[in-house]
Amino acid sequence: MFSRLRPLRSLLPIILFGLVASLAYPLGGQPLPSKPPEAATPGAGTGAAAFAQLEWLLPTPSETRLASGAPGPLYWQQRADYKIEVRLDDAKRRIEGKERITYQNRSPHTLSYLWLQLDQNRFRPDSDNVLTQTAPTSFDELGYDDLAQRIEMSQFQGGFEIGGVTDAKGAPLKATQVKTMMRIDLPAPLPPGGTFVFHVAFAFNVIDGTKIRARTGYELFKDGNAIYEIAQFYPRMAAYLDYQGWQHKQYLGSGEFTLELGDYDLSIDVPEDHVVAATGVLQNQGEVLSAAERERLARAAKSDKPVYVITPEEAASREKRTYVKEPGRKVWRFKADNVRDVAFASSRKFIWDAMGVQSGPNRVLAMSFFPNEGDPLWSQYSTEAVAHTIETYSKFTFDFPYPVAISVNGPVGGMEYPMICFNQPRPYEDKTYWGDPSDKDKTWKRSKYGLISVVIHEVGHNYFPMIVNSDERQWTWMDEGLNTFLQYLAEQSWEKDYPSRRGEPKDIVSYMVSADQTPIMTNSESVLQFGNNAYGKPATALNILRESILGRPLFDFAFRQYAQRWKFKHPTPADFFRTMEDASGVDLDWFWRGWFYGTGHVDVGIERVSEYVLDAQDPDAAKKRQKEYDDAEPKTLSAERNAPLPKRIEARPELADFYNKLDEYQVTPKDYADYKKLLASLEPAELEVLASKKRFFTVEFVNRGGLVTPLPLRISYADGSHRDLVIPAEIWRSNAQRVTKLFIEEKEITGIEIDPKLETADSDLSNNGWPARPGKTRFQLYKPNEKANPIREDKEPKDPEDGKDGKPN
Ligand SMILES: [Zn+2]
Repeated sequence: MFSRLRPLRSLLPIILFGLVASLAYPLGGQPLPSKPPEAATPGAGTGAAAFAQLEWLLPTPSETRLASGAPGPLYWQQRADYKIEVRLDDAKRRIEGKERITYQNRSPHTLSYLWLQLDQNRFRPDSDNVLTQTAPTSFDELGYDDLAQRIEMSQFQGGFEIGGVTDAKGAPLKATQVKTMMRIDLPAPLPPGGTFVFHVAFAFNVIDGTKIRARTGYELFKDGNAIYEIAQFYPRMAAYLDYQGWQHKQYLGSGEFTLELGDYDLSIDVPEDHVVAATGVLQNQGEVLSAAERERLARAAKSDKPVYVITPEEAASREKRTYVKEPGRKVWRFKADNVRDVAFASSRKFIWDAMGVQSGPNRVLAMSFFPNEGDPLWSQYSTEAVAHTIETYSKFTFDFPYPVAISVNGPVGGMEYPMICFNQPRPYEDKTYWGDPSDKDKTWKRSKYGLISVVIHEVGHNYFPMIVNSDERQWTWMDEGLNTFLQYLAEQSWEKDYPSRRGEPKDIVSYMVSADQTPIMTNSESVLQFGNNAYGKPATALNILRESILGRPLFDFAFRQYAQRWKFKHPTPADFFRTMEDASGVDLDWFWRGWFYGTGHVDVGIERVSEYVLDAQDPDAAKKRQKEYDDAEPKTLSAERNAPLPKRIEARPELADFYNKLDEYQVTPKDYADYKKLLASLEPAELEVLASKKRFFTVEFVNRGGLVTPLPLRISYADGSHRDLVIPAEIWRSNAQRVTKLFIEEKEITGIEIDPKLETADSDLSNNGWPARPGKTRFQLYKPNEKANPIREDKEPKDPEDGKDGKPN
């Protein structure tokens, strides 16, 4: 019944008695020697592997990218300025245009060719995107939308028609199309510091955004009106990067756009009754807006609540104007400085509202463009959500540097561009919508939370990757993960218990234990379970890093450092990992390794708890306790049944001898003598240790999920009180699968719980408590019912026979 621990020091044999054992082995049983699983597979899962530094995984630091994670003194990046003129053909659903690109070679390298992105070529029927699409996993579950998209993609005549590539003087340049990329051979090598000006003419058919899920497209309404959301509409410079040369990986559909910064002059020629929203500041208000609209826009800029520039009534009357006869044309001119791209939207259906929002010294115009079909949701929430995003995100990063931020409603589900984004959620035709947080996945397109969240997310992308200009073609998580993390913070500061889809550790658990996972550090095109991998998991990891590993002040300082260091620059994952460590002062290599390079999950449990009491070797106390332990020993079944049966020795007392009468719990004179001798041999400091009234508990934790994690604990005591503490993840540094921790307590422990506040994404809570508690699982049978929603039900005619509240009389 005793488990003997190693003496505190060899000359002083202090015996510790096992007093309470966990349910893992019965009172009095000897604990079996534990055999860690890694004994079977040497090396795997050891603490050394989990805590090894990342050095061999990260690129070698240089004076371009420093070991601290900051851009170095030799950092450089290219620049491209654009003058673009496009014409929207409303009848043919087509864009025609030309551009002048001024490319500045700021690299220390001489370039003999340039690469441009031809993203529209993704929509050619012979594109790699179409050709490499695999069959649906199940034809039984193939939806109409999915099949319609496959049919449309196989026949739509999309792709850029390149009309001509010429130099500044109009001489043709050799241009070679390579699927979604185009190489231009320079007439003479472009030296470091050199500038090359050239022109490209282009045209393409706009895709039907209601048939093909994409980042651009048009939506046709029953009356012939359309909303155009136009992006990737001009050949764009591919990025030339210090860490990889040209980023010209083909556009297959998932990996987005790695782009250079520059200034844009954009002219958009549209039917005269269209309203245009675009990246940048409108340059010719006097030519395209009425006096009333101009006055309202000026008023909106000063207002801290949305003001209509075009009212719902005005939009309704504009869209009723004849569509059949092509009206005259108007050119809307915009300028945008220091952006990596431009996009625009155009329609005669647009309601337009705007308000001012302050971001540090900058006054930003938050605006929304949406059809009457978007109301009542859009008038109420869109522009407020734009302003809320700027206010919240700026706290964690930098002041919003651009003059406008725009949210547009149309066919695109949710897509970001500098200063402008396209967002789909809209109420039903009867103006009802969902507000039920529990059904947020199935109904987000018709839900107010679907709208608010997507606006926050897409406007939030201004920070990542539009300004912190990461390599999207390579790493989806660097913008989506960081943005989804800040989206969660913005949502939670919108309203109490906002039903965020991603961010809370408990919401990532089912993904973390799922099959078919890739590490976060996987190329955008090869990521499996895209949303969870590139959005949910990194966002959750950062939330855990902030709440449970670094704490809010350290995390916020380091994260802000990263944003400040890399705004208007090209960061890589190593720059992020290194900055977060360098600024927080905490070694996080184990964290990046586990969460970003691995596919393990968090599942820790309590294997056993033992209490030890320090034996002061006072014989009176020792023998008393010995008796208590022995009495507490369970009796076997046979012993219990045999007890009342007659015994021979009771019938014949003469058979009993000395030993039958000996009380082993009786203190003997020799016990006292030994005790006296011990006390005499001890130094005062040693006597103090022996007299300690502390209680000693060992808790054995086991790591079943593989991902090392901090251990947030709640320890409950016999007097009803409890204390919370967090043991850092470094407890696993010697053995990543099994560790035992000694707790020295004043009071008796009656319970221990791991992760009582659900902060670690622990996938199995049933092994988190001691004593073990029965796990609870709730389930209900589900039948989707999109037809009914609470607003509609509220409006449904009630039986006049019934009471006012619908309760049958
Ligand atoms: Zn996104």
